[in-house]
Amino acid sequence: MQVTGTHINYYLNCHRQLWLFANGITMESTSDLVYEGKLLHETSYQRRSEKYQEIEIDGIKIDYYDPKNRVVHEIKKTDKHEEAHEWQVKYYLYVLEQNGVAGVTGMLEYPRLHKTDEVLLTSPDRLVIADMVIKIESIIRSEECPQRLPKSRCKNCSYFDFCWSGEEEK
Ligand code: SF4
Repeated sequence: MQVTGTHINYYLNCHRQLWLFANGITMESTSDLVYEGKLLHETSYQRRSEKYQEIEIDGIKIDYYDPKNRVVHEIKKTDKHEEAHEWQVKYYLYVLEQNGVAGVTGMLEYPRLHKTDEVLLTSPDRLVIADMVIKIESIIRSEECPQRLPKSRCKNCSYFDFCWSGEEEK
């Protein structure tokens, strides 16, 4: 099994989300949030496609790679920076490096915030990522779906209805 950037993101958000996604239970196609994200993605960056390359390698898909400056650009629709976003990009840099493409940096872009954050891959990061990959594979292989998070942490998750339908509002 190849660990993807989405696996890394979900692992850091919620182990149950990771397990559901990896075991083929996806709500992405019907999620308004995901649709909205794709729309923002397309409208904000549609004129930039010539400058950037799309890369698919070892299970990851990088939409915007700038080969001239060796920068991976990752666009997020949210209005706040999340640690999971940063690790997703670090994972892209890690996979590129594992495949002989070294010295690449990352750029997290938040169009709604008009903000960009540089992302670098450090030596400690490489160890953290190697450990994360082992834990992700173990969760995915598990027979049991992990427990839910507290509901207050589920508001923006595409699995909200799946996890909480039938529950009384508190
Ligand atoms: S709704 Fe909550 S518990 Fe369910 S997958 Fe999403 S974050 Fe996890």
